[in-house]
Amino acid sequence: MADYVVTCDCGAVEMALSGAPRVRGHCHCQACRTLLNVPYHSVNAYNPDQVEITKGAEALVDFQHPNLKMRKIFCVGCGEVMFNTNALDWRVVSQNLMTKNLGKLPEDLASLSHFHYDGRIVDVADELPKKP
Ligand SMILES: [Zn+2]
Ligand SMILES: [Zn+2]
Repeated sequence: MADYVVTCDCGAVEMALSGAPRVRGHCHCQACRTLLNVPYHSVNAYNPDQVEITKGAEALVDFQHPNLKMRKIFCVGCGEVMFNTNALDWRVVSQNLMTKNLGKLPEDLASLSHFHYDGRIVDVADELPKKP
């Protein structure tokens, strides 16, 4: 049984998430910035077997970045990134995608820390631990 089911903006792709993420937090690394063009990436990172495409797999583009050991998996119809992978092949799901689908971010997906904070380009003033 999936804990959460989300879709892309156009509805072609549906994705089910099961179990607790391995990591939940705000990533400030250069690789996330390069792959996704964001100042930092607010994520829930899962093992591959916790993330299942339940509809519309044929609409997905699986983009391998030319320089990074990262892939970006997005819908060809609307451009929504369903997840990206990191060097460990974890499936990294944006918290924004969850918030957009669910109305608000569930407590069990909320960030616990900032990581790669030494590599940041923006400061974040909150109470969460800041890890180098
Ligand atoms: Zn779509
Ligand atoms: Zn990162």
